[in-house]
Amino acid sequence: NLLANQIAAGEVIERPASVVKELVENAIDAGATQIDVIVEEAGESLIRVVDNGEGINPEDVPLAFTRHATSKISNRHDLFNIMSLGFRGEALPSIAAISDVTLNTTTQDAPSGIMYHIKGGKQVSATPANGRRGTVVSVRDLFYNTPARLKYLKRPQTELSRIADIMNRIALSYTNVAFTVTSDGRNILQTNGDGNQQRVIAAIYGRDVAQKMRSIAGEDDDFNITGFVSLPELTRGSRDYLTILVNGRFIKNFSVSNAVIRGYGSKLMVGRFPMGVININTDPLLVDVNVHPQKAEIRLSKETELSALIIDTVKSCFADENL
Ligand code: ADP
Ligand code: MG
Repeated sequence: NLLANQIAAGEVIERPASVVKELVENAIDAGATQIDVIVEEAGESLIRVVDNGEGINPEDVPLAFTRHATSKISNRHDLFNIMSLGFRGEALPSIAAISDVTLNTTTQDAPSGIMYHIKGGKQVSATPANGRRGTVVSVRDLFYNTPARLKYLKRPQTELSRIADIMNRIALSYTNVAFTVTSDGRNILQTNGDGNQQRVIAAIYGRDVAQKMRSIAGEDDDFNITGFVSLPELTRGSRDYLTILVNGRFIKNFSVSNAVIRGYGSKLMVGRFPMGVININTDPLLVDVNVHPQKAEIRLSKETELSALIIDTVKSCFADENL
């Protein structure tokens, strides 16, 4: 079972950024409105996620570290349909199999919280503890017992930028949650949870960038599009600065990002890409959920129709100007 957990861990947890993603998604699922992420040495020595969510009842904590023990309902459409992000009950056991985890959690009603320590998949201790409502998960020495994984990590700078990328996308998706990200004592992201996506863009990319964004809006029978796209003068050398959210969830889809680019027509230099955030809202049934849950690349039904709508929406936002 420990071996099974280590194998599963390899699928769910590729790198420190995967741990951050899973822990933060759990915090979001728990209804947290404030989530603080603290990493040291790009997550290799410490990843800590502090949330003010509902917490876990002490007696349920060991269960949460058991495989497939999700407390969340799951039918096949849940992935994009309901609020719940987690659905497989694999993250915590996978993380605990390959690191040293302490989880400190307190619910509103339980008389006491718990401090739970598990290392390499084996419980070390469980003691009553009190804290504010919410959960603190601290992951230390990731991959300490899987040297192959450890060797495969890129240099700290690269691992940290993957953590930052994931947190940026999550902050853009969950504008009602206030996030902080601290790396080796330095604050690298701070959002206020006021629901204003343009302010999150400013928090990530800077105020000057946010000011060079235009809001867009468009819809047809199947899709509703909102978001922000950069003025044609503000471009980057890669598509990575174009974030696409379908029903609030980050995705990758080549034809969608292509449509955004095509919306600029000849205003964009060859090899340059706009920055922006595109929110696509649609019936979950038009979203292909039949993909590996760890992969962001998805297919959409009616992609041609969607592309045309996006091209139009982007085009019309620059139509009345000589840019
Ligand atoms: P999943 O999220 O797929 O259910 P996880 O392994 O990520 O599986 O988490 C297992 C369970 O632990 C969750 O279903 C949830 O009940 C509980 N849990 C994990 N993290 C938190 C948290 N931050 N706050 C409240 N409950 C949590
Ligand atoms: Mg989860």
